[in-house]
Amino acid sequence: MTPADDLPATARPAIDKKALLEKYVAERDKRLRADGNAQYLRLEGQLSHYLDDPYTPFVEREPKTDHVTFAFVGGGFAGLVTGARLAEAGVTDVRIVEKGGDFGGTWYWNRYPGAQCDTASMIYMPLLEETGHVPSEKYAHAPEILAQCQRIGRQYGLYDNALFHTEVESLTWDAGRSRWIVRTNRGDAFTASFIGLGTGPLHVPKLPGIPGIGDFKGHAFHTSRWDYGYTGGDPSGALMEKLADKRVAIIGTGATSVQAVPHLSRACGTLYVVQRTPSSVDVRDNRPIDVDWFRSVATPGWQQRWLENFTANQAGGTADEDLVMDGWTDLSRRIRAKIGELPADQRTPRNMLAAFEDSDFEKMEEIRARVDSIVSDHETAQKLKAWYRQLCKRPCFHDAYLQSFNNPNTHLVDTDGKGVERITEKGFVVAGVEYEVDCIIYASGFEVGTEYTRRAGFDLTGRDGVKLSEAWGEGMKSLHGIHVHGFPNAFFVQPTQGANLISNIPHNLTESGRTIAMTVKHALERGAKEVEVTEAAQAAWVDLLLTGMGRMMGAPDCTPGYYNNEGQDPGPAARLNVGYPHGASAFFKYIEGWRSSGQFEGLAFR
Ligand code: NDP
Repeated sequence: MTPADDLPATARPAIDKKALLEKYVAERDKRLRADGNAQYLRLEGQLSHYLDDPYTPFVEREPKTDHVTFAFVGGGFAGLVTGARLAEAGVTDVRIVEKGGDFGGTWYWNRYPGAQCDTASMIYMPLLEETGHVPSEKYAHAPEILAQCQRIGRQYGLYDNALFHTEVESLTWDAGRSRWIVRTNRGDAFTASFIGLGTGPLHVPKLPGIPGIGDFKGHAFHTSRWDYGYTGGDPSGALMEKLADKRVAIIGTGATSVQAVPHLSRACGTLYVVQRTPSSVDVRDNRPIDVDWFRSVATPGWQQRWLENFTANQAGGTADEDLVMDGWTDLSRRIRAKIGELPADQRTPRNMLAAFEDSDFEKMEEIRARVDSIVSDHETAQKLKAWYRQLCKRPCFHDAYLQSFNNPNTHLVDTDGKGVERITEKGFVVAGVEYEVDCIIYASGFEVGTEYTRRAGFDLTGRDGVKLSEAWGEGMKSLHGIHVHGFPNAFFVQPTQGANLISNIPHNLTESGRTIAMTVKHALERGAKEVEVTEAAQAAWVDLLLTGMGRMMGAPDCTPGYYNNEGQDPGPAARLNVGYPHGASAFFKYIEGWRSSGQFEGLAFR
């Protein structure tokens, strides 16, 4: 607690907004750099070993040259929920092609100690009602989420046809046969009547472009390829006993690092946490889920109700109660309350924005005060404070991260926004000081602001040989974020141009899965070989999207990060990276109406 926290809210000193804003700007300016996304390194060439799969042995197999009704690229939540909905709709030959050695996507790769979902399990874990799984905690840990992915795979027969450790290299529309030709890095060349794409937004790990990164002679890995062989321990959080005599550096302090640091702090001889920008770390308050309580709420249709309730509370809808009660809904509740304080005749966009800003200042002051209340060393506490609006960067929630800095073996190495100067044979250099370490762990995140086709690793060649990269040359264009004109029988499973609900991505995916399954079923039932959005329907949808307020996250005046394209102008195409203008709740209602009408408005079946 800080002295101010002891006071009732009315007696607290007023926030000096001008001084705060100046501080925010000064901290952002320190971090702005002209190279933006180009500062990061792709894991190729000499660095490609960072991508090796430490979890599942590679198994040789014969290339596939057959035909399936539906091929899906990506075996994460998107592929699993779409596969499940297709199976329910009677389409059983679904082939999921996945670069990992099993289902799970993000949760296949991210097995670092402490990995956990930041959105409540009840709404984050897909198909809980269908599988009957009772989440063990309010915020489930990674092994349980991976197990849920495997459970979905088994329950819906998705393993039978899946191709693991396989990367799609090209997808080409064969107009003569109304099907897609799928080619992979394992020599497969099979065909599919329909394809789905669920490659996820954050799946290509990146390294910081620190000079000398290839020189280090110790051990190094990226958090998404955790080397338990080196560290000891396991993904469930067992002590990493092999680190007891090791000097370890973790570079990066984003959401991954915040979760891994407490485990490293417990295990390492010496731990250096190397920070460029602090994360905002709010209360986590995780707890076990009581099975009796769960049974009392899990009446038929419960998960859909919870999903809708969360979205209504979090993303612009209205709800009488808050079933989930977490950091996300708290944030929205505070903003709504501030706006509610405005007299009705003063609720202009300008005043509402000011109310939003006031609420954010208060929240961030609380989060900064929390650092002082936990971290005993004053200087360290000052450096751990985040000086930006909460949604400038991914908000974090943790009840052991800040506490780690009270452990004598754990040292914050703050780079004052500049990043690590150099990697040497023996360690790393910050502010001219070399720190010798045995191991460097890169918690440096994933590619985000790059082109879809670059991240996916392949392009689509649609009707008349037009590539997706050409069709989207001036930005993404779709109907509902799913259907793209010129690419018949292809479905995208991702949030942009749909609900764009960032606080609970699985809600977007489960809805898309449902839409796709109904569309495919309809095509098959009426004997249509092709389904495609019309040019007019796509154009009308894009026009509608552009009537909205634009991108809400990652304003240009934020500290650089992947939310705002590292502070660089994202170009005109980014204006299309938006969601339904009336909000996520409204989108889900709209799409339910679109589906249940049975009209498939905007799609042409032939
Ligand atoms: P991030 O991209 O969020 O973080 C990368 C970190 O590396 C940042 O702290 C960044 O600093 C730092 N960095 C980059 N370059 C340098 C450099 N040259 N020197 C020093 N530090 C550097 O990656 P994460 O893996 O943490 O998280 C990615 C996303 O994955 C999250 O935002 C979240 O969406 C998701 N995630 C979700 C979780 C959950 O739901 N529980 C858990 C973990 C991740 P800077 O900030 O200055 O750029």
